Amino acid sequence: MATDSATEELFSFLSEAQRQLDAGFSNLPPAPAVELDAHAGEILKQVATRLHDNYPYAHPLYAGQMLKPPHPIARMAYALTMSVNPNNHALDGGRASSTMELEAVAELARMFGFPRYLGHLSSSGTFANLEALWVSGQTLPGRGIAASDQAHYTHTRISGVLNLPFVEIPSDTSGRMDMIALEHALQTNEIGTVVATLGTTAVGAVDPLPQILELQKRYRFRIHVDSAYGGYFILANNLADDARAAFDLIPRADSIVVDPHKHGLQPYGCGAVLFRDPTIGHFYKHDSPFTYFSSTELHLGEISLECSRAGASAVALWATQRLLPYSRDGQFGKNLSMGREAALEFNRRIVADRRLLAPNMPPQLDIVFYAIRSPEGTPQSSSDLARRVFDLAAQRNLHLALATVPLRFFPPDSFPGHTSGYVTCLRSVMMKPEHLSWMDQIWQRLDEAVTEAVKL
Ligand SMILES: *Cc1c(COP(=O)(O)O)cnc(C)c1O
Repeated sequence: MATDSATEELFSFLSEAQRQLDAGFSNLPPAPAVELDAHAGEILKQVATRLHDNYPYAHPLYAGQMLKPPHPIARMAYALTMSVNPNNHALDGGRASSTMELEAVAELARMFGFPRYLGHLSSSGTFANLEALWVSGQTLPGRGIAASDQAHYTHTRISGVLNLPFVEIPSDTSGRMDMIALEHALQTNEIGTVVATLGTTAVGAVDPLPQILELQKRYRFRIHVDSAYGGYFILANNLADDARAAFDLIPRADSIVVDPHKHGLQPYGCGAVLFRDPTIGHFYKHDSPFTYFSSTELHLGEISLECSRAGASAVALWATQRLLPYSRDGQFGKNLSMGREAALEFNRRIVADRRLLAPNMPPQLDIVFYAIRSPEGTPQSSSDLARRVFDLAAQRNLHLALATVPLRFFPPDSFPGHTSGYVTCLRSVMMKPEHLSWMDQIWQRLDEAVTEAVKL
């Protein structure tokens, strides 16, 4: 949560910048502004009160779902831009913000190592994936989409919307796509695109992109990397070797999705899709020649399935990139490494605690999950205990999340007599760099909650 002085500083920077923005239009004859009276102030206070009904997402003791506060500069840039309210559908509606979108997307492309590309921002990861799979369907009509059983649930729906067959590939005991099962599916010749998830939403598993690329030597298919959550980890300096190998090969994928509104410090409404081959642009607008799309004069509205898009999103992303450039040794990269270090430290404590059950693998990115050991040893009793710990931790201001995962993610002796099925466990996305220095505070509250839950 912002302290009072930080909030004041935020608003003083913002009002200075607003004056500078207004000055640029001061040659116009004055036009009446909307009048606000005390009633507006009262309504705003009602809003503040209503918003108390939230978990404290910005605080380090919120260690639950994939939620991260936008950076203050993103908030300010977004708020400032709203006084213009540009629409990045076309240059007419948003001139400066369209150029800033191109520059912001160029930074994403540079981060992933795409030398030539076509790409743009979108309202979400879901919409970005829809565009990527739409292009897949246009390129290889009627051929199916293969993704792991841990891929984001929207891929099934998107395939339905696009009327493309969806083939679910099982995941292994650490949540990564099973390569033998994938090869079997490819042998049918019905798969047009394999979705490699680099960072699954539930447990942060990284699909083996190097082996998927190997399969491309024998089968013809496209590769779409869904790294809506995980993409920015390309900048972390403490990935395990297999995850690092997968991220390093991203430039060989046909398309990639990343959500700046997840790990990119942006407010919601900011996803992105990049294609390695700029000529796919012709699918968007059939009456334009290829050259038009591979020129630098891109009209964003003509290479996006969405029409209106918030120019403010692009400006917020642009401003954040200027303050925190995408580099491994800069603060942005260091913060990702710190979140990951917090996850590894959390996992070490879980492994050492007899009351908890750690999964087969340490965190691949920054998501930690674990089950509670119950006296009965059944998945059902463990799930009940997890729900109790969730509530008891919340009473101590520690906010965790629950996730239901396959039993095979845990060592075989974790639930004696149970080999298939699911267990509800606790899950924390350690998304904030402060999570590392708050680890003792987090652990102390969890320790108390577990002690009490087991006693009840
Ligand atoms: C979050 C996520 C999505 C969906 O993105 P939204 O921005 O929530 O629409 C898709 N894929 C993965 C891997 C994700 O983590």
